[in-house]
Amino acid sequence: MYQMFIDGQWCDAAGGGTIDVLAPADGRVYAQVPRGRAQDVDRAVRAAQSALDGEWGRLSATERGRVLHRIGQKILAHADELTEIEARDTGKPLATARNDIQVLARYFEFYGAAADKVHGEVIPFFNGYTVNLLRERLGVTAHIIPWNYPAQMLGRSVAPALAMGNATVLKPAEDTPLSALRVAQLATEAGLPAGALNIVTGLGEEAGAALASHPGIDFVSFTGSNEVGSLIQQACSQTPVKCVLELGGKSPQIVFDDVDIERAAPIIVKAIVQNAGQTCTAGSRLLVQKGIYERFVSRVVALFAQVRVGTPEMDFDCGPVMNAAQQARVQRYVDEARQAGVPVLAEGQLADDLPRNGFYVKPTMFGPVDPASRLACEEVFGPVLAVIPFEDEAEAIRIANGTEYGLLAAIWTENGGRQQRVAKAVRAGQVFINSYGAGGGVELPFGGTKRSGHGREKGFLALEEVSTTKTVVHFHGE
Ligand code: NAD
Repeated sequence: MYQMFIDGQWCDAAGGGTIDVLAPADGRVYAQVPRGRAQDVDRAVRAAQSALDGEWGRLSATERGRVLHRIGQKILAHADELTEIEARDTGKPLATARNDIQVLARYFEFYGAAADKVHGEVIPFFNGYTVNLLRERLGVTAHIIPWNYPAQMLGRSVAPALAMGNATVLKPAEDTPLSALRVAQLATEAGLPAGALNIVTGLGEEAGAALASHPGIDFVSFTGSNEVGSLIQQACSQTPVKCVLELGGKSPQIVFDDVDIERAAPIIVKAIVQNAGQTCTAGSRLLVQKGIYERFVSRVVALFAQVRVGTPEMDFDCGPVMNAAQQARVQRYVDEARQAGVPVLAEGQLADDLPRNGFYVKPTMFGPVDPASRLACEEVFGPVLAVIPFEDEAEAIRIANGTEYGLLAAIWTENGGRQQRVAKAVRAGQVFINSYGAGGGVELPFGGTKRSGHGREKGFLALEEVSTTKTVVHFHGE
């Protein structure tokens, strides 16, 4: 039985009530967290406002940076414990969870170091004036995150906001609230003043909706589905405050005839099965030029057929998906494609002795897939790969840009001109050439185009999102 964390204190929901937390590996309830609602959100927002007026708000940028750096150190010192929490909460393999915790720490290190590197500007103006452009915090920032990478999402969303001196309220996903609660405690031990980071656990339509529409917040960072993203943007238009939306994807891997097969194939398989395909940037569409189609696809098939699914402790390539609804959703896409007669090219392997009630699905690779079909256009959010042949560069670009999403894309070719042309033509927030994902990429600005969302997280651009400018015009005479 856990409590949530408001104003540096552990507490239950004001109205009582709890939510069950299930382990995806065996479907069992293993924890309960408070079912926070509007009243709890209100308390958290007030605590954040007080933090801005209190000790937290008075720290210099350098002092804030030090606190963030110490949080990163604390996380690393408790990496084993956090890895276990994260693996149990999400069902992901221990190795994946371990990497997630390293990336979480890295967010605090990176933004801790950045806190006092953000400078204003002096703007040339009429003689007799000095104009300063100051960069300042927004105030109280709200953070609503999904269940696929709970720890990483916390770091990505909250660390830049704290670096700029905001006070934060985080609503973790109802399925995976536990790493956030532990991080809040570690952050407090590292010296983060009360109220700077508040965690309200609860359901999306209760705690999440109350947070996004609270009149006391100045910004919302939302990562999750497109459906909820629209609701968040509507809520933000009422107050009105700015929001950053990180939504879904259907990212293409574009493979040309001159691909380095041995480099590309394993990375492409990993990009779709990692985290059981529940990654917004999953490389879920494999576009292959016709001249190399048979050779390249058969190499990917051979690797895909070796993918193993197990419990976190088995530490295979992937674990279960998050919950029963997600399992049913992935299965629906697979069944529909099979019924429509789309050829199955390969399937991964489920371990023999999996717990009966875990939410496991078989990784499946289909091809050739009609680029206009649901399987090729909609986000499955599971380990399902759609292979699509193409003739030439123009057709590859047309297919790559043929969905409503635009998050990531990868180009696999040794031809330098083609690398540049396709990178320019493809609509995505990040483009990788002869690589994919680059292990978290805390330094690399990230975000969507088209319906994958707007605004940027990661890198220095994230600091602009969670801050504002003030133009100070001073007339002092010539
Ligand atoms: P979701 O939209 O169902 O939930 C995300 C968060 O929003 C959760 O904390 C949830 O409690 C909350 N929420 C739900 N309803 C709400 C409401 N009415 N008001 C306010 N908050 C509400 O998403 P999910 O199923 O947890 O995550 C999967 C989706 O997230 C996928 O579409 C995936 O692509 C996307 N995602 C995107 C990125 C990215 O960076 N672009 C990263 C990870 C996941």
